[in-house]
Amino acid sequence: MIFCVATVRRGDTDALSFLERIQCPRCWRVYKHKSSLYKHLKWECGQESQFRCDLCSYICKQKGHLQGHMRRKHSLQPLVDQ
Ligand SMILES: [Zn+2]
Ligand SMILES: [Zn+2]
Repeated sequence: MIFCVATVRRGDTDALSFLERIQCPRCWRVYKHKSSLYKHLKWECGQESQFRCDLCSYICKQKGHLQGHMRRKHSLQPLVDQ
């Protein structure tokens, strides 16, 4: 799983951009747009485990589901990770 590191710049950003920043109440990540925070809360924050398909936008919570997806949709055998 890949996390994007939110870069919070201070100093040269003005007060307006400070006000525009939206922070996740759980992990304190900072977002510029509410929609980004909602997406984060829905798909990232507090999710115990998440598996994403590298080939499309498929996301699931169980590894088995992703493996099944890879086989069905992409005819690929997933890497065995045990
Ligand atoms: Zn969060
Ligand atoms: Zn896929």
